[in-house]
Amino acid sequence: MHEITVNLHMHTPYSDGHYSHERIAQAAIRCGLDAVVVTDHNVWVNGPEEYYQDGDKRVLLLVGEEIHNQARHPQKNHLLVIGVGRELATLASEPQRLLDTIRKSEGLSFIAHPVDPPAPAVGETDISWVDWDLHGFTGIELWNGFSEFKGRLKTMLHALYYVFNPKRIARGPFPEALRKWDELLSQGNKVVAIGGSDAHALPARMGPLRRTVFPYEFHFRAINTHLILPHPLSGDIFQDRRVILEALREGHAFIGYDQPAPTRGFRFRAQGAEGTANMGDEIECRNGITLQIRLPMISECRLLHNGKPVKIWRKRENCTYITSEPGVYRVEVYIHYLGRMRGWIFSNPIYVR
Ligand SMILES: [Zn+2]
Ligand SMILES: [Zn+2]
Repeated sequence: MHEITVNLHMHTPYSDGHYSHERIAQAAIRCGLDAVVVTDHNVWVNGPEEYYQDGDKRVLLLVGEEIHNQARHPQKNHLLVIGVGRELATLASEPQRLLDTIRKSEGLSFIAHPVDPPAPAVGETDISWVDWDLHGFTGIELWNGFSEFKGRLKTMLHALYYVFNPKRIARGPFPEALRKWDELLSQGNKVVAIGGSDAHALPARMGPLRRTVFPYEFHFRAINTHLILPHPLSGDIFQDRRVILEALREGHAFIGYDQPAPTRGFRFRAQGAEGTANMGDEIECRNGITLQIRLPMISECRLLHNGKPVKIWRKRENCTYITSEPGVYRVEVYIHYLGRMRGWIFSNPIYVR
């Protein structure tokens, strides 16, 4: 098993972002990422998908896109599309056909910022997902860094405070997003959760003050999606793209907020009579199973069964839980950082059948 760190969901000047693909890649290398997924609005940029090097360090830049129906008012329902390898924004006005086409093309689709509050103080509207009757998506972007920022902007003063204190923003996915995810899981769906930065590096001006709102480097050290791969990346773009897409499709992943402390090394597994399961996998419950959690350092760990906490460990690095109850098990980890408990790690579920 090999872990890599991926930052997902960001924009370039092809839509409303400010770093080029090359500059994004160099920033990602400096931040120690293994891969990034660029997702411009309604445009699939053909060409920049490759390995970028700096000395002996490298990062794989993959290109997807973020599609929404621009004729719809209000403009909601943003969808992250990864791994299709062609333009699909032409299907934006037929979202179910879009989802079906992505699936048939063996691509991945994630509901972007499913909960996205308005921020009237800075003229931003709510762009949540609303069409929950659509089906066939791979998963949801459970934790979106930019939506969380929007959620804090009650007034211009709040905007100013958080632009200058970005490390104080993140607290965890919105409770409504967690509730919606648990609801989808309770209906028997396999729904993969990812974390996204939604990086734009917007230039902001307020009187004499000028500031870039969250440079990409800030996001790359914040909400990442960590993937568990069967082997390390090889350096071959075709092979590595396939293995990354497969880990995302299967949900062999957890969301890690890497700002307070690195989340690398987190593990959540199940051991049963017939073998082991990783995050995203199914396992048979026959004769009971043992759930094993390993934390990168001592912190508060919550195990949830069908969305309800069943056990909380406060001062442990290794946690085990024996059960014979089928259902969906997932883990949330909280860490004390900058004066409060904050969400640190959110695992994908293990499906106990
Ligand atoms: Zn969006
Ligand atoms: Zn976006």
